[in-house]
Amino acid sequence: MNLHEYQARELLRAAGVPTPEGDVASTPDEAEAIARRIGGTVVVKAQVHAGGRGKAGGVKLAASPAEAKEHASRILGMQIKGLTVQKVLVVPAADIATEAYVGLIVDRESQRPLLMVSPAGGIDIEEVAAKTPEKIFKLAIDPRYGLMPHQALGLGFKLYTDAAQARAAAKIMATLYAAFMANGASLAEINPLVTTPDGKVLALDAKVSIDDNELDRRPDLAALRDESAEAPAEVAARHAGLTFIKLDGNVGCVVNGAGLAMATMDLVKYYGGEPANFLDIGGSSNPEKVVNALRIITSDPQVKAILFNIFGGITRTDDVANGIKTALAEFPVKVPIVVRLTGTNEAEAVKILQGIGMTALSDMDEAVQKIVALVREAA
Ligand code: GDP
Ligand code: MN
Repeated sequence: MNLHEYQARELLRAAGVPTPEGDVASTPDEAEAIARRIGGTVVVKAQVHAGGRGKAGGVKLAASPAEAKEHASRILGMQIKGLTVQKVLVVPAADIATEAYVGLIVDRESQRPLLMVSPAGGIDIEEVAAKTPEKIFKLAIDPRYGLMPHQALGLGFKLYTDAAQARAAAKIMATLYAAFMANGASLAEINPLVTTPDGKVLALDAKVSIDDNELDRRPDLAALRDESAEAPAEVAARHAGLTFIKLDGNVGCVVNGAGLAMATMDLVKYYGGEPANFLDIGGSSNPEKVVNALRIITSDPQVKAILFNIFGGITRTDDVANGIKTALAEFPVKVPIVVRLTGTNEAEAVKILQGIGMTALSDMDEAVQKIVALVREAA
C-alpha cells in the first residue's frame, strides 16, 4: 500500500526526521488559506501515488497566497501518470543548497533491507542509477544488528564532507531505518534530502510503501489507505478478495494460486505474449470470485483475450466453470476466452463449459500458445 507524501512525511516526522510541516488542501481556496497561515514562500505539491511529479508540473513554488491558489487550481485535477490529483500539500519552501537521495527497500538479492544513498539526488535519481551507478552507495543491513552507527556515519560522509551534516544525515538514516522496520514498510525514500544554505539537513519529499501483509495487525496504517487514489480495478479486486495487479500487456489471466499465476505469466511471455494482469482467484474459489475476476479484466480495454489456467486442488474446477457460465450470462464478454483446467471435478467442469459451447484444454502449453495466437490475430 502506497502512502501519500503528506502521510509519509507525518510518519517520518513522528519518528524524528526533520521535514517542514504543512497541510493538505482539496480546493484552491484551502491552499490559499494554508499558504497565508504559513507565510512567506510555500511549495504546492500534487499528492498522487506517482513519482516524477516535479517534472510533470505537479510541484510549484508560490511567493504569495494568491500564487499558491493559482498553482493549486492548476495542479488539482491534473493527471500524473494516469492518476488524477485530488489533494495538494502546501509546505513552507526551503532554500536548497544541495539535493541528495536516501532510500530503503526490501532487497530480494541480499534478502535484507537495502539502504541506498547518493549525493546526486533530486528529480533524476533514475537517470543517476542508469548512467552513473557509481554515485549510488548501497548497504545491505543485517536485521539482527540493525543499521550500526559507524555504517550510517560512513554513508553520511558519502553525502557530505561537512562533519555536522554527515552526522545529521546518519541520524536521519538511522531514523528512517527504524521507521521502515517499525511500520513494516517495503520502501521508504527521501528524495531530495537537502542541505540549506545555512547548513541544515532536511527531508523535502517522502515516499513510503507499507507491505499489505502488515495491515491486518496495524489498523492505524490500514486507515491511511486512500482508495480514491488507487487504480479502480485494484480496489474492486481487493473488495472481491482477489489478488490482482494490473500490467501493460493484452492477455488477461485468471489463475488460482500465486505460483501458478507467475508460471502462467512466464509462459505467456515465453510464447511471445504480454500478460495484462496478475490475478489469483485464491485456493478455495467460488463462482462469484470468477464472475468478479471477469468483470474486472474485461473492464480493461487493452485486454484482447482471456486465459483461464486452473489447477483443481482445493479449488473445484466446476466452481470455476460455473463462474464463467454466470459471468457470460450477466454481462457481455467481447474477447475470446481460452480455458485450461485440470484436477478436482474436471469432468463436471468440462460438461458445464460444453453446455455453453466452450471447450476446455488440459495442457498448459497448448492453452498458452492458443491464447497468444488469438491475440496476434486480434492485433
Ligand atoms: P517528485 O518530483 O515527485 O519527486 O517531487 P519532489 O517533492 O521531490 O519535488 C521535486 C523537486 O522540486 C525537488 O527535487 C526540488 O528541486 C523542488 N522542491 C521541492 N520542494 C522544494 C522547496 O521547499 N524549495 C525549493 N526551492 N525547491 C523545492
Ligand atoms: Mn522526490
